[in-house]
Amino acid sequence: MAGYDYDLFVIGGGSGGVRAARVAAALGKRVGIAEEYRYGGTCVIRGCVPKKLYVYASQFPEHFADAAGYGWTVPEASFDWGALVANKDREISRLEAIYKKNVQGAGGETFQSRAKIVDPHVVHLLAEDRTVTADQILIATGGRPAPHPALPGHEHCISSNEAFDLKELPKAIMVEGGGYIAVEFANIFHGLGVDTTLVYRGKEILSRFDMDLRRMLHETMERKGIRILCHAVSESVRKRPDGRLDAHINNGTVLTVDQVMLAIGRIPNTENMGLEGIGLEMSAIGAINVDKYSRTNIDNIWAIGDVTNRVQLTPVAIHEAMCFIETAFKGNPTAPDHNTIATAVFSQPEIGTVGLSEDDAVKHHPDIEIYRASFRPMRHTLSGRDEKMLMKLVVDGTTRKVLGAHILGPDAGEMAQLLAIPLKAGLTKDDFDRTMAVHPTAAEELVTMYKPTYRVKDGQRLD
Ligand code: NDP
Repeated sequence: MAGYDYDLFVIGGGSGGVRAARVAAALGKRVGIAEEYRYGGTCVIRGCVPKKLYVYASQFPEHFADAAGYGWTVPEASFDWGALVANKDREISRLEAIYKKNVQGAGGETFQSRAKIVDPHVVHLLAEDRTVTADQILIATGGRPAPHPALPGHEHCISSNEAFDLKELPKAIMVEGGGYIAVEFANIFHGLGVDTTLVYRGKEILSRFDMDLRRMLHETMERKGIRILCHAVSESVRKRPDGRLDAHINNGTVLTVDQVMLAIGRIPNTENMGLEGIGLEMSAIGAINVDKYSRTNIDNIWAIGDVTNRVQLTPVAIHEAMCFIETAFKGNPTAPDHNTIATAVFSQPEIGTVGLSEDDAVKHHPDIEIYRASFRPMRHTLSGRDEKMLMKLVVDGTTRKVLGAHILGPDAGEMAQLLAIPLKAGLTKDDFDRTMAVHPTAAEELVTMYKPTYRVKDGQRLD
């Protein structure tokens, strides 16, 4: 549209926004993108990427200990938190520059500014105090850790945002929540030598996952030395005269720690963006409502990623960006497919999962076969580590379709990515059975579980 400054203006330089900006620019569209903080967004700056680097860092003590069984003598190791933070900073700065350069390289214009929508075709760039016009606007502002104003003393607590850059590694930490972030960080801190307590309000951590994995991960984490309190919530956090914190838990426990980290979900970033002013529809928690093509109630304004609160995962935001490009710029309306999304929890051991949990499958399928194997991975034979791996396939007994695949153990995330393909393709257990194993691997178990461990018929378990 020649009448506007841009064909597309993107607000938010995270995974979704940058992908849309880059691909639209590469199509020859005039594209602008504004980011108020750092290009790369949550995933690169204070999410998936630094988290995974910290997971690696926290695994070394076990590697050092395991080495003895393989004949190695490892001198006493020491850890430098400051070095890890600095090295992480260097890496994310490198990635941040690449994100920005990729947009510019494709011909897009990048702005370092907060952006506010003042009219469906007009965006105000606050840092430059000027407005630009655009034919299409894409909101991809992501989310942020949910605050907890109801908790007395919440101002003493940190979120995952701060956890990455603490000046000092705490000696003791309490992590509140039982989701991805709480579980991953509890394992990271424990691995780095921090006395760690996880406080979760429900009956078992990781409520959206298969119960077998949840239980086994819980047991394994406790065996490593992580304290897990279920059916527990903190009632207040008080600062002591010595600067430490007393977290009062509803079961009467008082935990004296150096940090309390809240990981109780994430909320969309939609405040002070002018959205109410232009009549953009949002949900009660401030997520932008979109149709199946990611279009808002205003025809030329679209939204993707965490700000829409559909599925809060980086690859989903990127997929939604690609579908948006097809729909808005290629005349090929494409709805993002949110079914059968594989996911990993980088706990220790790791979880990799795709498809239905046993409990969910039973709700929708009258005849279910469960194939389950629990074994000590070969790596732990000589190391002597008392840690088991769990693999589980959930199969529809009538159609033989594999409905769910769940793994707990080393490299589970990598396996989940590959399992996502047969599950997405709707392959059956027979297809798994006629697939040759790769030996010796842990993953070969997935194609060699020939007999069901048990069936669940009309909700009744039959062994
Ligand atoms: P989650 O939704 O995974 O977990 C939130 C946790 O906080 C749940 O255990 C929830 O309990 C609990 N909770 C919610 N409200 C309260 C409260 N008021 N008091 C006490 N506990 C509460 O959110 P996260 O913050 O862990 O992560 C946000 C999103 O980021 C995830 O949903 C995920 O999509 C994404 N993510 C993905 C990762 C990955 O792919 N590996 C890693 C990190 C994040 P309950 O279960 O009872 O609801």
